[in-house]
Amino acid sequence: MGTDRQHSGDDTRVAFRTCPLCEAGCGLEITVKGDTVVRIRGDRDDVFSKGFLCPKGSTLKQLHDDPDRLRRPLVKRDGVHVEVEWGEAWAVIAERLPAVLRDHGREAVGVYMGNPCAHNLGPMLYNRSLLQALGTRRRFSASTVDQAPRQVAAGFAFGSPVTVPVPDLDRTDYLVVMGANPYASNGSLCTAPDFPGRLEAIRARGGTVVVIDPRRTRTVEGADRWLAIRPGTDALLLAAMVTTLAQDGRIDPGDHVGAWLTGLDDVVLACAAFTPESVAAATGIAAADTRQLARELAAAPSGSIYGRIGTTTAGFAGTSFSTATSWLIDVVNIVTGNLDRPGGAMFPTPVAGSGNTRGRRGSGKGFTTGKGATVVRGLPEVMGEYPAAAMAEEITDAGERRMRAVVTVGGNPVLSTPNSDQLDAALAQLEFMVSVDIYLNETTRHADVILPPPSQLQRGHYDLALLQFAVRNVANYSDPVLPLPDDQPDEWEILARLGLIAAGLGPEAEPSAADDLGIATLVAGAVGDPHSSIHGRSADEILAALGAEAGPARMLDFMLQTGPFGAAFGANPEGASLAALRANPHGLDYGALQPRLPEALRTPSGTVELNHPVLLAELPRLHAALQADGAATPAADEVLLVGRRDLRSNNSWMHNIGVLVKGKERCTLLVHPLDAQRIGLTDGGQARVVARVGELTTLVQVSDEMRPGVVSLPHGWGHGVEGTRMEVAASRPGVNSNVLTDDAAIDPLSGTSVLNGIPVTLQPI
Ligand code: SF4
Repeated sequence: MGTDRQHSGDDTRVAFRTCPLCEAGCGLEITVKGDTVVRIRGDRDDVFSKGFLCPKGSTLKQLHDDPDRLRRPLVKRDGVHVEVEWGEAWAVIAERLPAVLRDHGREAVGVYMGNPCAHNLGPMLYNRSLLQALGTRRRFSASTVDQAPRQVAAGFAFGSPVTVPVPDLDRTDYLVVMGANPYASNGSLCTAPDFPGRLEAIRARGGTVVVIDPRRTRTVEGADRWLAIRPGTDALLLAAMVTTLAQDGRIDPGDHVGAWLTGLDDVVLACAAFTPESVAAATGIAAADTRQLARELAAAPSGSIYGRIGTTTAGFAGTSFSTATSWLIDVVNIVTGNLDRPGGAMFPTPVAGSGNTRGRRGSGKGFTTGKGATVVRGLPEVMGEYPAAAMAEEITDAGERRMRAVVTVGGNPVLSTPNSDQLDAALAQLEFMVSVDIYLNETTRHADVILPPPSQLQRGHYDLALLQFAVRNVANYSDPVLPLPDDQPDEWEILARLGLIAAGLGPEAEPSAADDLGIATLVAGAVGDPHSSIHGRSADEILAALGAEAGPARMLDFMLQTGPFGAAFGANPEGASLAALRANPHGLDYGALQPRLPEALRTPSGTVELNHPVLLAELPRLHAALQADGAATPAADEVLLVGRRDLRSNNSWMHNIGVLVKGKERCTLLVHPLDAQRIGLTDGGQARVVARVGELTTLVQVSDEMRPGVVSLPHGWGHGVEGTRMEVAASRPGVNSNVLTDDAAIDPLSGTSVLNGIPVTLQPI
């Protein structure tokens, strides 16, 4: 157990555990009596979060105790889910899943990996073997309703989709927050517990925070300035900032980057088509404000632009430029001299498991997309996946090549991906569906078998994915806080056994044997790799040091020891290892971010390929969209719909926790008073919201925090559907905003959906 203090005389103990609910990764201090959690609070000694936690963090107890959380597998019989023993659930899967694969081939099965996979060690390490065993290219995930454009832009320019620069929050003098509300989200693709506190510290030390957002969010209220941009036009603003600096003669990436940079002149030249004046009508940002922003950022001792969900899921002029926007953020950070320097936009050095700390340093194969395409629309593969927006049509419209079975691991795509009604109907047509999930929710109600993993407190934890984007180089491991019930398999065992069944080895095959093989393969690869810290060592010696216990902890130990700060199995005795992290339950701090150019690059040229042709081609496309936008006349009752985040919500889940959903209704449509008056909507009244693919009726909240012409509805709601089993969520259902999002509207480079800037019309009811 992750325990470092035992009270004498009773069975009360204190365990330390990293919160797995969002990207901030706060340290928790959990008091346990027997097997009952009695208190959760922030761990004041955590090296990264220093005691911070948000209202969600302390509800891990309620999540664990939730009577609706599944403790046993469910099998659907005559349309009703019934509890069964694990053996029976495995037997049903072994009978039906391999039959689909045998009769219709590997591509007949699709997989959806939900957002919780990125927050849990088991899926992070064992989803890959499940995917390999299934052998299908029809892989989908929450990435294409979230961050994929940011990673694709990094992939093309820096050579790897995990080489994403993050703002050096704790040292910056000037931060531009674009399309993000870290006061509610606690940050994303920028792991920083107490993100709000770090923003306040920028201003306290004399720095400046500017927020660019169509809504006056809580983050705006804590900032120096707000630019109320029209949704989807961030790329125009960024390109015009580049032009401002070019006209001023202030393009200066600095010697530290200039030596490793290709194509800057091409990009600056292509941006010349966008001036602060020519984009002002589209963005809604006055030319003088655009120039001021560019000049202040360039003049600041250090600074950076940080863009998030509003920049990666936005639509403009009937299309999307989300990857181009992420790339232009990098361009502005580069031309202002802020890439890869303290206080600017820097590359983390993850302690374990990063693709950009392994192998040859400084160059590589680079990044490509298009290894395969969807059947119906021919949408290209990106980062090993197809767009989530294509899932439904691949089930219903692909004829003999249709998806006949689906496996989901976490997530709730019926609520979180576009054109929800279409996907809901499509899942009902499947021949077989398996879900690994703790709830019978809007998606898993379609599953023939649901396999529940243990609760968050019964799993070990290391933020393998999210520490790759952290603003400090830190590491923190937690053993499970509570023991597994006797018959409950660990999450990794569920995923591994599912893979073994898909591979045709039957339900009796042992996950631990497959894991032994997996770790032996990794070790053999590392000792044979001239770039590895254990190159030339004996594989047997390394395997003996790792021990015989199968599972994620052994795999993680290998990654820590062979990572950039690793102990390398005795070669660096003070280095990182699982033992070192277990001995330091508050985490280990490996310091502030360090400059990493050119070593972090994996491009073929060994430079930042800023003018990668795929990216550069986006600027003429953007210009054409600007022209088209200028020529268009929107309908009088048309507005643009954006989403929003709430501190007590976590995408589509955490809505079954009473303390997080109680109080005033939060699933409301925010409408500016001018729009409300024009359309005839009243505060507390109802509105019908109509989009191309669907419509819904929702509660109106009139608020001047919205930019006129833009309305906001949070996502992840729409509970209480027949066949689900989430009592609290059903009592506060809200409406599903993804009934309105359009499966046809995607960013062509990343396949990411447009979830912000959706044209809708409003009608009073
Ligand atoms: S900010 Fe995120 S990681 Fe921290 S306590 Fe809240 S949900 Fe957990």
